[in-house]
Amino acid sequence: MQRILDEAVEYARNFLHQGKPASYIPELAKADPSLLGAAIVETNGSTYFSGDFEKSFTIQSISKPIALILSLKDNSENFVFSRVGMEPTGDAFNSIIKLETEESSKPLNPMINAGAIAIDSFIKGKTPDEKFNRLLKFFRQLSHNPDLTYDHDVYRSEDETGFRNRALANFIEDAGILLGDVEEVLELYFKQCSIKVCCKDIAIIAAVLASNGLSPFTNNRICERHYTRLVKTFMVTCGMYDASGEFAVKVGLPAKSGVAGGIMATVPDRMGIGVYSPNLDVKGNSIAGMKVLEYLSTRLDLSIF
Ligand code: GLN
Repeated sequence: MQRILDEAVEYARNFLHQGKPASYIPELAKADPSLLGAAIVETNGSTYFSGDFEKSFTIQSISKPIALILSLKDNSENFVFSRVGMEPTGDAFNSIIKLETEESSKPLNPMINAGAIAIDSFIKGKTPDEKFNRLLKFFRQLSHNPDLTYDHDVYRSEDETGFRNRALANFIEDAGILLGDVEEVLELYFKQCSIKVCCKDIAIIAAVLASNGLSPFTNNRICERHYTRLVKTFMVTCGMYDASGEFAVKVGLPAKSGVAGGIMATVPDRMGIGVYSPNLDVKGNSIAGMKVLEYLSTRLDLSIF
């Protein structure tokens, strides 16, 4: 396995010159585009690492399936899905168009920004700090990393330039979908996106999803089986945004990408995979990261289809 992972990373190095880091969040544009790392955590606890696997980056949208689980724990499934839908959009992750053209103004799914912001507004807590601390605690449990924290500079950068996310949040507030104060919900969303992780952390979270909620190291239950099934389904249909169809054909795994360059992929009953490389394609997915996953999927016959 170690040799195959190293081969996948070497293969993906050929694509490092393509694309560029996200720049609409100024702090992310500073990333070193030569970075490339990958981690595999098998459901039996075996781990394999390659390249810059310990380099930290902000989790960004990879946080969305995790926040969804917490939101589902806090509310009934009926409540959550009466306000956020279950359908892919075919639009960019931060698109506003369907909110106005769809009849209900309900965000189409929890993996796009509008849906994820709504999902955050359902998370329980007396104060904004309590809500974020509950979320962070859950991320720490899933990643088995008690030291996870958020990156202040990226958080500030997102907050200062988050005009489009503010527009989305205000739109769903106006439509009666968002709960609570718009600015407080955005603070929670931006902090959540700014949580710092490395490939190893997201591979461990993916391994928990792969084993339907059990820890790969202790076998203890960390998350309800039903919720892991739900989020894996969203990852297949919407996890790579408007590239989800092509990714399903080429890689065939539930996966979630983030604009800092991370991708978390899960191979049911077998392993979690975390990859990182900052250069993105036009849809906001890490180019070299997808190449690592393509290589692994082909070489190890990982596709679920
Ligand atoms: N924080 C980012 C945003 O809201 C997350 C987007 C992403 O990773 N695709 O724009």
